[in-house]
Amino acid sequence: MIVFPETLVVIRCPFCQRQMLYRNISRFKMAEGTTLTCSCGADVLKIHAAAKNIYISCFCPCCQEEHQYIISNKELLSDQAMMLECEETNLHLAYIGDRDEVLTELNAEGEQIICYQDMLREYFDQPSLMAKILMHINHLFAQRKINCEACGSSDFDIEIFNDCLNITCAHCKQYTRIFAKRPLDLHLFRKVDRITMRAQGVAMHFVTKNKTIGFNETKKK
Ligand SMILES: [Zn+2]
Ligand SMILES: [Zn+2]
Ligand SMILES: [Zn+2]
Repeated sequence: MIVFPETLVVIRCPFCQRQMLYRNISRFKMAEGTTLTCSCGADVLKIHAAAKNIYISCFCPCCQEEHQYIISNKELLSDQAMMLECEETNLHLAYIGDRDEVLTELNAEGEQIICYQDMLREYFDQPSLMAKILMHINHLFAQRKINCEACGSSDFDIEIFNDCLNITCAHCKQYTRIFAKRPLDLHLFRKVDRITMRAQGVAMHFVTKNKTIGFNETKKK
């Protein structure tokens, strides 16, 4: 069996600014050309592989226009994470590349959020808690421990609010909400070892007893 290497793209939707899109793109899909769409309806990033290069365009919320990027196939397959940055403002638009490396970069950004938490209080009730919860999500995601059994997808949207966030299956829209209000929220969430979405609800598996504790009450959007 031929295994096509997958590329991970993580991008914040430049239109609604609330959703982080985590998408796995196969080389096959890339060769065909594909568009990543946010659940707000916006087309967020277009990616297309041709001959030796990958062509990417994504909308920049600062410049209010699309920026174009060309990455060589070699660079993309080199087990690195590439950052797509706005040349005018240095805004980080997206990360693309090797799954582990992309998630490592995201966690480095999470640590910056913790450093600048005083400045971020208008966006988050508890910036440092939110950042640590996002880092744990990245950790689970890196280990392929967030899955949707309802539809088989491993593509997710992370929608961030002031005091909580939703993890939503990008395809069937099953979702779960994680709170980021109290230290206890982080304490409990760090014990989560696996998140499985099912048609009837979302199961959180805790690491301590290696068993599933209940179902969250969620409905599809
Ligand atoms: Zn959006
Ligand atoms: Zn720009
Ligand atoms: Zn699903």
